[in-house]
Amino acid sequence: MFCHQCQETMKNAGCNAAKGMCGKTAEVSDLQDLLIYACEGIGFWGTKALGKGVYDEETAFFVDRMLFATITNANFSAREFTAWTFEALRRRDALKAAYLKAGGVASGPLPGAATWTASTEEALKAAAATGLGGWLAEADEDRRSLESLVLYGLKGMSAYIEHAYAIGKSSKDLFVFIMRALAAISDRGTTKEALLALVVETGKEGVNAMALLDGANTGRYGNPRITTVKTGVRGRPGILVSGHDLRDLHDLLEQTKGSGVDVYTHGEMLSAHYYPYFGKYDNLYGNYGGSWWTQGTDIAKFRGPVLFTSNCLVPPKEGQKARIFTTGVVGFDGCPHIADRAGEGMKDFSAIVALAKTSLPPEELENGTIVGGFAHDQVFALADKVVAAVKSGAIKRFVVMAGCDARQTSREYYTGVAAALPKDTVILTAGCAKYRYNKLALGDIGGIPRVLDAGQCNDSYSLALVALKLKEVFGLADVNDLPLSFDIAWYEQKAVLVLLSLLSLGFKNIRLGPTLPGFLSPGVAKTLVEAFGIKCIGTVEGDVAAMVAGS
Ligand code: SF4
Ligand code: SF4
Repeated sequence: MFCHQCQETMKNAGCNAAKGMCGKTAEVSDLQDLLIYACEGIGFWGTKALGKGVYDEETAFFVDRMLFATITNANFSAREFTAWTFEALRRRDALKAAYLKAGGVASGPLPGAATWTASTEEALKAAAATGLGGWLAEADEDRRSLESLVLYGLKGMSAYIEHAYAIGKSSKDLFVFIMRALAAISDRGTTKEALLALVVETGKEGVNAMALLDGANTGRYGNPRITTVKTGVRGRPGILVSGHDLRDLHDLLEQTKGSGVDVYTHGEMLSAHYYPYFGKYDNLYGNYGGSWWTQGTDIAKFRGPVLFTSNCLVPPKEGQKARIFTTGVVGFDGCPHIADRAGEGMKDFSAIVALAKTSLPPEELENGTIVGGFAHDQVFALADKVVAAVKSGAIKRFVVMAGCDARQTSREYYTGVAAALPKDTVILTAGCAKYRYNKLALGDIGGIPRVLDAGQCNDSYSLALVALKLKEVFGLADVNDLPLSFDIAWYEQKAVLVLLSLLSLGFKNIRLGPTLPGFLSPGVAKTLVEAFGIKCIGTVEGDVAAMVAGS
């Protein structure tokens, strides 16, 4: 195996042992690479077929789901990746046949991804074990780096598109882009200049993907509003819901209302509380525990069933598997899986509800509150107050501390920065990085909390809209002239997409940590530093001083 897609990769270079740092086995890692390789073949034939007017949305969505399934901490099942790869090959060959039937011609050298095949499980697993489709086949480190940036951006984009799709919103343009980008990275003839342009385009489409999900979420569940979320418990059995998928939460709340079972959010699902629609469910009680990586101890103390609606599943202990339910593309052998919904109907969560009814109530971990809900519409509603505070000097600087949390102690840096920033600074956040400081008593500035949480990592889109609005209000020519600094944490591929999206919107001088991505070659890192001023985080003291001074 060789995997370098997340921030925890071994030695910041690549996981290449029997298991990755995330617990993914070498077999699963190799099978994921092979599945992506098959999807690149779909991209190749799908793009050609589009030229002949042939478009297969079902296959485009399948590719989207497969990219999502290979994201860090989403699915650990060799069985599922094997089945999906066979399906990918079948869909790839069907698209090729449709292209030829529409008058296309299969001429010239074809990429390996367009022609490779396996007819038995044995042959497929043998191909995976040779590293077919994996990064080690790419000897040029700059190519590997640029292709990684595109592929990981696509994986993040796919996750957001999948959640929007569940709420009935999709975009042919985005699906077509994904196909075209996969085709480009499968083609050895794509120049490095073209790959760099594709990186930039991935960021631009990332903004569109986040806007799609924002429209889907707010269209169905309303614009987030300032909300106080309880972190305590009450003495009834509960179900803990993790991940990003609001439609899954919606279905579960419908099936638990009046049942005597409470629903608690975990990790990224915290921001569901901010949507007005969910306020009508009095059994959506509060948020339990910390960010994704604390799930082992949180689940042990929760005592009831847990539902994972998207990634950030940590391989569970044997004794916990029976009460850890997965759904969508999430999977772990031995954990029960909730099947996809049929059409517009609901998923059937009855097994989770039944188990909850026999479970003990959660143990109390804490008993406080978290305040959030500062997505774009809510902040725009407060615009006069915010602008007045900036003009009076009460707010001197905004610091975007969005992104991811993870296990390393080095991430205490973000707690340190939040605590050390002067009291006239406001922290804008989205994503699970906030768990490093969202329970600190940081106070407010004239009633404006010093931590404004927009929501999930995709709600970084909201933070960008807020910054662009401030630029407009203050009549600035360049968004980088705002009193605004970025101090972002990254972990997995959605964060890669968010970063590329911010760059495409023109934001510069972003601090990124706790390390720069291991998949950046020195050459590509230099390009990003020169073009965008990206830098790695330093010390708390040094970075706080630099940000206060305006960098
Ligand atoms: S996802 Fe991250 S931790 Fe897991 S194998 Fe890949 S690089 Fe390693
Ligand atoms: S904030 Fe980061 S770790 Fe958390 S779900 Fe989003 S991308 Fe994953």
